[in-house]
Amino acid sequence: VVILGIETSCDETSAAVIRDGKEILSNVIASQIEIHKRFGGVVPEVASRKHVESISGVVEEALEQAGVTLDDLSAVAVTYGPGLVGALLTGVAFAKGLCWSKGIPLIGVQHIAGHIYANFLSGGMEPPLIALVVSGGHTEIVHMPAHGEFSFLGRTRDDAAGEAYDKVARSMGLDYPGGPLIDRLAQEGNPEAYLFPRAWIDEESMDFSFSGLKSAVINTLHNAEQRGEEIVQADIAASFQASVVDVLVEKTVRAVNKTGVRNVVVAGGVAANKGLRARLTERAGQEGFHVHFPTLDLCTDNAAMIAAAAFPLYAEGKFHDLDLNAIASLSLTKWADTKTI
Ligand code: ATP
Ligand code: MG
Ligand code: FE
Repeated sequence: VVILGIETSCDETSAAVIRDGKEILSNVIASQIEIHKRFGGVVPEVASRKHVESISGVVEEALEQAGVTLDDLSAVAVTYGPGLVGALLTGVAFAKGLCWSKGIPLIGVQHIAGHIYANFLSGGMEPPLIALVVSGGHTEIVHMPAHGEFSFLGRTRDDAAGEAYDKVARSMGLDYPGGPLIDRLAQEGNPEAYLFPRAWIDEESMDFSFSGLKSAVINTLHNAEQRGEEIVQADIAASFQASVVDVLVEKTVRAVNKTGVRNVVVAGGVAANKGLRARLTERAGQEGFHVHFPTLDLCTDNAAMIAAAAFPLYAEGKFHDLDLNAIASLSLTKWADTKTI
């Protein structure tokens, strides 16, 4: 089974060819980061136009690198939400065109399901699983009893983890996206230099809140500036990261203990974070559960994960009609309920 995946939900135009849901034949990613950097974030109109310019070249490149032609494809999988609607539409329209012209099935994939399925491309465990989703727009603890089934144990009440990283980075004068830069700085800083708040909410809760932490960092920077004090950026980064990682890790441990599910996968851009990878691996060892992270290149947006998420649906013969539309706010559980026809 050879599936072409297409991903255009935000600022990466990506196409990938995956065999049997696991083997990556190609995974081409054209990032728009350099273009959006000077605006300090993604500009939706610019993103849509760039996707339109790049999509056919990126798909051609993915087919060529995989050594396949359109005639070899079993199906086309495409992200249809959540994301920027104009950006999503580029991928959805392109995928529909390919499916119509080749007479092959179309499979619409929810983007966060894709992030979770990135784990299966690098030897992740089989469900039942707990997925810690930590991306630019989402922070959730998901229970996944079987392929394609998801329910929420907890979620952020304000900012997503990646969003908190990017906002704090911006206030420190770092480039967009700031997550990887803070992660790098944090390696050289003292995590106990500042005691930033941890939002536990209550003893049982698996929800998150990062806006108080973000404000605390911004206030610290602001106060130091007013007093003319030197700030060691690495110490701010390390102390901020310690707070984020503490909460993410301990709430994941809660989810494991509460459900008895002892296999954990991590999903989304923040899964690339060195501090999170180290601490969660250490805690899993202490608590006696298994944890798996995608390889670094599969943590942020890519089409390989989209094709991987489509594989179980392909195997069950569950496809979408060619009237599939982009849905900017498509939720993981809604997709799981209605994904099939
Ligand atoms: P969503 O998937 O929720 O729609 P998105 O696609 O924009 O959002 P991702 O591609 O999953 O988000 O991840 C991008 C985010 O990951 C950015 O916020 C970025 O700063 C963050 N990120 C990437 N690498 C790291 C890292 N090493 N440490 C912390 N954050 C990181
Ligand atoms: Mg991106
Ligand atoms: Fe993403």
